[in-house]
Amino acid sequence: MNTSSSHTIPDLTDIFAYVDAHRQEFLDRLIDYVRRPSISAHGQGIGEVAAYIANVMQRMGLQTHILPTAGWPMVLGERLDAPGGPTVLLYGHYDVQPPEPLDAWISPPFEPTIRNGRLYARGVGDNKGQHFAQLLALESLLACRGALPCNVRFLLEGEEEVGSPHMPEFVREHRAEVMANLVITSDGPVHESGRSQILFGVRGILSFELRAKGANRDLHSGNWGGVAPNPLWTLVHLLATMKDAHGHVTIAGFYDNVLPLSELEREALARLPIDVERVKQSLDLRQLDQPLERGFAERLSAWPTFTINGLHGGYGGQGSKTVLPHEAFARCDIRLVEAQSADEIFAKVVSHVRRHAPGVEVIHQGSMEPSKTPLDSPFTKPLRRAIEAAQGIEPLLVPAMGGSLPDYVFTKTLGIPAFVVPYANADEANHAPNENLEVERFFMGIKTGAAMLAYIAAM
Ligand SMILES: [Zn+2]
Repeated sequence: MNTSSSHTIPDLTDIFAYVDAHRQEFLDRLIDYVRRPSISAHGQGIGEVAAYIANVMQRMGLQTHILPTAGWPMVLGERLDAPGGPTVLLYGHYDVQPPEPLDAWISPPFEPTIRNGRLYARGVGDNKGQHFAQLLALESLLACRGALPCNVRFLLEGEEEVGSPHMPEFVREHRAEVMANLVITSDGPVHESGRSQILFGVRGILSFELRAKGANRDLHSGNWGGVAPNPLWTLVHLLATMKDAHGHVTIAGFYDNVLPLSELEREALARLPIDVERVKQSLDLRQLDQPLERGFAERLSAWPTFTINGLHGGYGGQGSKTVLPHEAFARCDIRLVEAQSADEIFAKVVSHVRRHAPGVEVIHQGSMEPSKTPLDSPFTKPLRRAIEAAQGIEPLLVPAMGGSLPDYVFTKTLGIPAFVVPYANADEANHAPNENLEVERFFMGIKTGAAMLAYIAAM
């Protein structure tokens, strides 16, 4: 990092003009990319698309390798043009969600079509259009300047849409090859308001099932009711000991490691434009969940949750059936915030269940750790300035998003700050039929990608 020329404002006029002059070509190349299926759920096209995008990266002058994992391969490229300068890791994923249901698509998912300024195709927003914009940012910088302003590593995963099962191991094993000063991911949508945002964190997740058993078979509720215990009631009572009516999770020690919001985070949350009345109206809700006094953005960024995803057992068919069921299940997830850990919280769940309903089995189903980068990271300012330079308006800052991504492999395994800078429109319909990307946001993404590298190099 060049401290002697700090506060240099990079001049990006030539880069932005280059992007404007190559709009049609860049769009045609995106169309060629998204017409190729790469569905990680069953593997269709994965190998071909990994080779295709590796070839694109290679031709841009990135040293590129396709690296196998126990699942679908990773594509890793690098170009180290700035000895002694900062290294940026750009992360994305070349796999896509299955396109079904096909008949809900206005144009077929792998026949990219432009309507009303949007490109419709499976994977165009999530995530091909976004990392392709990052790649074209590199290409534009190289075309105009002959070299990248900082060192760049580019990691594309092939299993993001199936939960990134091999990312933790891959990053541990290839630590030196992916190491950088920071990581930037362009995935997900911009803020609802249409403003760009920088996301500094994600919530983690812990999924588990509670399983209660009664007799060895279903029984008649008249002949056996009051004699044989009912596992559905067992779960209802147990669940009622785990969260109270005020929204407070009552598992002992649950909040022990929840980090309070910093002053900067409070300010950033307060600046997010959220119309709570409109949200309530759109969901036909009279009120939000407990605790009622908690702010909307704070709920998603700063607090863990305990959600019953489903409670099953007995009879749910037509009419009635006077059954006393012999087993019952509750599927649950807990969204974790920094600095809770999935193992810590699972152990607390198990010990709570042992105490309150010793016969109930707790089955671990999966987890992902939370991740958070402090808002006062030295990279925040150059990223904000870069986005403003490319888009004409400052981004919103979101301390953590409500959902879960494996960002902890960067912040915890590599120990580097992680930033998510989404390019896609808020209504991109990712994972749904008619996925789309506003074409202007694609071009803005290319400019933003170039600006971020230039501003980081100039800090
Ligand atoms: Zn996705």
